[in-house]
Amino acid sequence: MIEEEQLGNITAVQTQKNVFSLEGKLALITGGGSGIGFDIAQCMIRAGARVVITGRREYALKESISLLGSAAQYVVNDVTELNSLEGLVEHIETQIGPIDILVNNAGINMKKPALDVSDEDFQKIVHTNLNSVFALTRVCARRMINRQSGSILMISSMAAYYGIDRVVAYAASKSGVEGMVKVLASEFSKYNVRVNAIAPGFIETAMMRTAMNSDPDRMNKALGRTPMAKFGKPDDIGWAAVFLASEAAKYITGASLPVDGGNSIGF
Ligand code: NDP
Repeated sequence: MIEEEQLGNITAVQTQKNVFSLEGKLALITGGGSGIGFDIAQCMIRAGARVVITGRREYALKESISLLGSAAQYVVNDVTELNSLEGLVEHIETQIGPIDILVNNAGINMKKPALDVSDEDFQKIVHTNLNSVFALTRVCARRMINRQSGSILMISSMAAYYGIDRVVAYAASKSGVEGMVKVLASEFSKYNVRVNAIAPGFIETAMMRTAMNSDPDRMNKALGRTPMAKFGKPDDIGWAAVFLASEAAKYITGASLPVDGGNSIGF
């Protein structure tokens, strides 16, 4: 028989706030019109957040909004246009609300042997995946620090963990992101702003299909060292993002969480 005191505890537990909830939060998700970014948006909305997604292709953003519903809005923005980022954040904060969560998801890849990668190739990847991530983070972080509250997420990659051939610029950019997470977490912690990364393994999206479809050896190698023996789904990253952005992760900062079916520890 359950004692009265125990029943009281159960009721107290049931009425407590759900620490995984993002109720009342606004998230800015770059590259939210497709792939992993879309699923991060969807999972955050399911956790109670409102989201703003960005990207270069308006038709993709419009289509995504129609699927995500009224908790989602979009702004067309190219993150590589660094001068546009202050205006982007100003627009969102004045028209929609303060950004509680920034997800630096937009990214591009390029598969080429290192000796064929030109300086322009290298700069293009690093500019999108690293320079723009820092620039947008700086704009958002200034405001989060003023409010003494915020959570910043970077989408890193297994390419920052070990040597995958033919992605030298991509790996350099994601390794830069991993370094940035540690420094920013260290600098921003005293302002109650957390900074973390998610390192996806091989996730079924357009980017992964482009890298894998013409390269069965690479596909088999990736699967062969993944203990779960399957590729991830974009919502695997989405739910990890919800967790890291939520109160449940309030003591986690400066971390890089592999979401990879064990790929990073597979033999
Ligand atoms: P996709 O190519 O499917 O999506 C990338 C998104 O980024 C698109 O919505 C694209 O929109 C947007 N984007 C690209 N360039 C820009 C830009 N200059 N400005 C604004 N938005 C931009 O890739 P994924 O979903 O697979 O990748 C998402 C993130 O996850 C990337 O950072 C990637 O490196 C990372 N990742 C993915 C893995 C995977 O297996 N899929 C593994 C490890 C990491 P638009 O074209 O409209 O601008």
